[in-house]
Amino acid sequence: MAMGLVAGPKVDHAPSGVYAPGKFCCTKCPKTFVGKDGLRRHMQQHTGRFSYWCDQCQRGFTVKCNYTGHMAKHEGRTFPCDLCDKRFQSLRGFQKHYTEHQS
Ligand SMILES: [Zn+2]
Ligand SMILES: [Zn+2]
Ligand SMILES: [Zn+2]
Repeated sequence: MAMGLVAGPKVDHAPSGVYAPGKFCCTKCPKTFVGKDGLRRHMQQHTGRFSYWCDQCQRGFTVKCNYTGHMAKHEGRTFPCDLCDKRFQSLRGFQKHYTEHQS
């Protein structure tokens, strides 16, 4: 008995990852996003509202302190203070310390 492996007409999709339905394209650069939310957050990058930008989750930050703490979360590391040599285990501890530099 033949297994009937003839699977009908080949569907000629574009290579996955290049285009998929449900993706949202940025009108100002070639980036695409899976969710509307991701695109909306990304668009803020073009407005120049934020000085610091996380490329991994499309979040903007106005102050470096928050950005540094956020990036440390992605890296799963301790929070290094860039104004001195101290490191902190928690974002809260780091932020508290950082504000002390600013006062
Ligand atoms: Zn863009
Ligand atoms: Zn992030
Ligand atoms: Zn410090």
